[in-house]
This record gives sequence, C-alpha cells and structure tokens, in this order.
Amino acid sequence: MRKYTPKELGRFRDRTRLVLAGRDPADSFGFVNPPIVRGSTVLYQTVEDFNLRKARFSYGTRGNPTIEALETAVNSLEGGAGCVLCPTGLLACTLPLLAALSAGDHILIPDSVYRPTRIFADGMMKRLGIESSYYDPLIGADVATLFKPNTKAVFTEAPGSQTFEMQDIPAIVAAAHARDAVVIMDNTWATPLYFDSHRFGVDYTIQAGTKYLAGHSDVLIGTVSARTPEQYKTLRNAWEALGVLIGSEDAFLTLRGSRTLKVRLDAQQKAGLEMAEWLQARPEVARVHYPALPSDPGHSLWKRDFTGASSLFSVTLRPVGAKAVAAFLESLELFGMGASWGGYESLALPFDCSAYRTATTWKAEGPTIRFHIGLEDVEDLKSDIDAGFQKLRQAA
Ligand SMILES: *Cc1c(COP(=O)(O)O)cnc(C)c1O
Repeated sequence: MRKYTPKELGRFRDRTRLVLAGRDPADSFGFVNPPIVRGSTVLYQTVEDFNLRKARFSYGTRGNPTIEALETAVNSLEGGAGCVLCPTGLLACTLPLLAALSAGDHILIPDSVYRPTRIFADGMMKRLGIESSYYDPLIGADVATLFKPNTKAVFTEAPGSQTFEMQDIPAIVAAAHARDAVVIMDNTWATPLYFDSHRFGVDYTIQAGTKYLAGHSDVLIGTVSARTPEQYKTLRNAWEALGVLIGSEDAFLTLRGSRTLKVRLDAQQKAGLEMAEWLQARPEVARVHYPALPSDPGHSLWKRDFTGASSLFSVTLRPVGAKAVAAFLESLELFGMGASWGGYESLALPFDCSAYRTATTWKAEGPTIRFHIGLEDVEDLKSDIDAGFQKLRQAA
C-alpha cells in the first residue's frame, strides 16, 4: 500500500478508489487510516523557512493532514481541478456564489432549489447587490431566453430534493457557456458516483456531504469542486479569505463514511426503487416522484445522464386530512421524522413547497411526504408503512 494522487486513482473503479483515497501508511505511523491532526500553529526551524512559509502545512487555517486526506478523496470522486471543504452543506451552496459573483451581477436559480439556498439569495446576496431570478426547473434549453446582459451564473439542482423535478443539465450548460456564465450545481442527490457533473460541464459542483458522503447522520460537512484550475483558484481564494475550515474529527468521520459510499448507495438505490414501486401500487398513493421510475416525467433525462439514483423520493397521497397524515407518520416505527437524509436509517416527513415557489406553481392533488430509504430490510420497511397506512385509513 502506497499513497495515490487523485490522478493515479483514476485508473481504478469506484469502490477501489474509495478504499485507497487519502491513505498513506508511511505518513500514518503504519496505521491504515490517517491520524486526526488538530492544530493551529505550525513550527519552523529557520527564519528563512518561516519567512517563506516553507512547510507542507503553513498554518492550521490552510489545512492539515486529516483535511488533506479528505480533499484527496473528494478530488478523486469529483474529477475536477480541486475542491474545498466546508463545515456545512449550506456553506458549500453559498461559497461558490460568493466566490464567482460580484455586485451588479445576476444569477438564475431553479424554483425547486434547496430552500436555504433561496433564502441566502433573497437575503444576503441581494444586500450585496447580486440580483437573483427564479426559473422553471423543467425549462431546459429555453433557459437561454432568461439571460440578461449581466447574467454571470446559473444555479442547478437535479433532481430537486422535495419535488424531484429533473433538470436538463447539458442543455443548461450549453446555454450558460455560450454566454460566458458559469454553472453551479447542487449534486447532493446523485453524488458524483451517479452523476459525473464536471464531465457534463458543470463548473462548480456541490455536495452536502452531511448526506450520503458521511452517511451516518453524525456529521455536518459540505464540499465544492471546481472544474478548471482558474475556477479552483477563485473558489480557494474565497475559502481562504473567509476563513472557512472544517474540524479534523468531521474530516475523519466523513473519510470513514466515504469508504462505503458506493456499497451503501448501490444497496440504497436497490431498496429505494423497490420501495418506490411498492408505494406506487398502493391505493393510498396518487403519485411517486422519483426519476428512477419509468413512469416519472424526468425518467428519460435521468436515464440519459445519470448512472444511478439515490434513495430519496417523495409521494403525493390521495387527498386525505392532515390528521390522517399525522396518524400515519407518527405511527411509523422504522421511519424517523426529521430533516436531512443520506444516512443509514430511513426517514419520512411531510412537506409543502407550494408557499415559497415564485416562478412556477407546484400543485399536488394530496398531501406530500418525502421518504429516505436507509439500510434496513425492505420487507420490514413495507410492513411498517403497511401498518401506518392502516392508521391513516382509520384516522381519515
Ligand atoms: C441538506 C442539503 C443541503 C445542506 O446541507 P447541510 O449540511 O444540512 O447544511 C444542501 N443541499 C441539499 C440538496 C440538501 O439536501
């Protein structure tokens, strides 16, 4: 076992790359995993070295061996020019906006975007003089009609994490690049394993590593990867200027989670599809929103561009009262009710995004519930939902 650079890891397949990335036994006292290094001050031996900051790590804010190991793993996953790590997925969404945009610029954002990204755009970005407008996530190549002379970026998220509307990323990239605008994508749902965003021309790609990358609901983390060396420089400069840094324990936990990312995702994809199909056949369910289902309106785009589906989807129930929905959700034993997703455990929660969309209206014929399928046995999950639907019918 020796150390591999992200480039050298390129000749291996996903699972092998995930096992090897960021490890260097020669630098880890022989142990399998990199040590958790904590530190602010780095000591130098000579005045000349100090003046030139001649050291592998110059100061704690510029990273340390634990953080570097995770960066290597993320770089090998993303295949970009370089990445930065952030203490939350939300900061990974906002950092490329701060890095790439200036006062007077305009950005296009899909109406289905992760809500805190919208709140950042409408609040802080607006205050900094950056104008946002929202577009129909299904617009595809027609996004070209929405460009203004000062449009410098298009934000994308495919599929949206509540309504699962698929976006035509290649068409949006073509429209943006023809006008010298950059494309920023929140790729948390698919992860780089199921959507190779840089290969499709996405300039800044985001993962809320809190979800599948870390995978155990025990750490908050975000990653941003840049496609070109120039974009990486822009991103890294913003990261350094703002003093963004993740804790070494969080880097260690995320790296530990990343070893099983492919194994977990593949298992969760299989379970997710089985649960989605089972739910679609239930009389209580009007529609399942999941691009991996052949009946989903986004299926053809998903099939063309993505190599897999994660295990997050939503359902629209047939019209039923709020009390019945609460009886259903509160009776579930294996589905926890809470925000976030991508861990080993299943989740279910109610959502209603109709109130905060501005470019389009999202009308569902009944209440909407988002499911995350974890690593439990699917037969147990089906039994749990089956029992829950009984409670729903009793309360209806
Ligand atoms: C959760 C999430 C984020 C933010 O991640 P946090 O680590 O919770 O801040 C960003 N985008 C999407 C799509 C998410 O689901």
